[in-house]
Amino acid sequence: MSQVRTRFAPSPTGDLHVGGAHTALFAWLFARHEGGRFVLRIEDTDEVRSTERSLAAIYDGLKWLGIDWDEGPDVGGPFAPYIQSERLGIYQDHIGRLLDSGRAYRCFCTPEELEERREIMRARGIPPRYDGRCRDLDEDEVARLTREDRPSCVRFRVQETGTTVVNDLVRGEVWFDNSLMGDFVIQKTSGYPTYHMAVVVDDHLMQITHVIRAEEHLPNTPAHVQLMEALGIERPQFAHLPLIMGTDHTKLSKRHGAVNLMDYRDQGFLPEAMRNFLALIGWSPGAEEEILDLRELTDRFTIEGVSKSPGVFDLEKATWLNGEYLKRADAEYLADVLSPMLREEGLLEDDLSPERRRWLVAVVDLMKERTRLLTDFVTWGSYFFTEDFPYDPRARKKWLSREEVPDRLDMLADRLEEPGTWDVDGIERIIRDLADELDVSAAKVIHPCRAAVTGQTVGPSLFDVMVLIPQTDVASRLRRAAKLGRAGELAPSPSEE
Ligand code: GLU
Repeated sequence: MSQVRTRFAPSPTGDLHVGGAHTALFAWLFARHEGGRFVLRIEDTDEVRSTERSLAAIYDGLKWLGIDWDEGPDVGGPFAPYIQSERLGIYQDHIGRLLDSGRAYRCFCTPEELEERREIMRARGIPPRYDGRCRDLDEDEVARLTREDRPSCVRFRVQETGTTVVNDLVRGEVWFDNSLMGDFVIQKTSGYPTYHMAVVVDDHLMQITHVIRAEEHLPNTPAHVQLMEALGIERPQFAHLPLIMGTDHTKLSKRHGAVNLMDYRDQGFLPEAMRNFLALIGWSPGAEEEILDLRELTDRFTIEGVSKSPGVFDLEKATWLNGEYLKRADAEYLADVLSPMLREEGLLEDDLSPERRRWLVAVVDLMKERTRLLTDFVTWGSYFFTEDFPYDPRARKKWLSREEVPDRLDMLADRLEEPGTWDVDGIERIIRDLADELDVSAAKVIHPCRAAVTGQTVGPSLFDVMVLIPQTDVASRLRRAAKLGRAGELAPSPSEE
């Protein structure tokens, strides 16, 4: 077989949705697995809805996921241009050929007339489709209407009888009844080609061997196949990917949460985790292991592993997977990813000294075991970056509002403030010694101390945490909590009880 060539052909009419990203990923993984080429083609034949902003969003989304393209609008390639609005002459030629051969014709029906007739069909219980009114207009009639400047589109004369069989790599043979199709538009009144026309011409001219796309395009495929036959074009292989559902098994939509891929970046997902997660929707690697890096994904990806039944977008699973990636991630890398997020929250200065950078990496390293989203570093971990961190109601209720706690916190502050090296063992010793002197268990000092220093009841080893916070800040946090506690300001409100 010739070299595999797949494409992602988004219409730039909005954000890059997770469904689009899923399609792009599968087409890309297949090309990479096969050692083939991956093409990015922009299908902007919807003149009204296509925007530059959306084009930029497509680039950003794909790049974030780590999907690269061998040919495309920005990188060029042997079949440039890769933006359909720059290829209008090419479609015009093909439409001209179909008009010449009689497989296409001009249609002068107005939208109002079409709607009226469709309404009648619906009322009679017939599935609405074009009724063929302009199919057999004679040449003189066409010439007259054209002279009158009547707006027209071009329709494809479909094969009306029999069936069109699509051989799909995922679904097998799918049969379509031709009588249901109706002559469809291939050139709009504006002169622009429709999606059907442009996609067929471009997949052919760009030598796409495998059309991998979402299942919602399966019903369009018989129309494409008929166009290919009329143009004498060889069919590519088709693979229609299963739909993506929410956990309630309805089609994924805003009701289920974000559908814009980049919202997941903002929610704290790592791109490699998102990529892994998307790959597992409707595809099985054929093994138990679910955490697959890029290399493993491309090594294992086959269309045979793609499922016929819908895939589920399970945010719980995505979050779990992200947590696994965070645990395994290199702390230096995570510090790079987190720095802009922390800066945006005003929690980190712009220029980090080497020492401060080492500190940040140590903080990240300590926290990454317990986080599931990058945003957890910013929310749970805010006590590393600011004195203005919140006290969790549980910490207030369980520890900071207890009568005996303020004195203990003050005593601890006095001792921890003593000049000396600020290290894990020293901190631990001071805390344990105080507990011994007070004749209480170490927990009775450790827990209030954690609550005062971090505002929380749980977290990484307290001594490891404390050593990463300046000695003077630790002391002042203990004193502040003691003072607030004594003043009764840390008592939980009735709603928090
Ligand atoms: N522009 C179409 C879309 O965004 C592409 C469909 C296809 O891959 O053929 O849905």
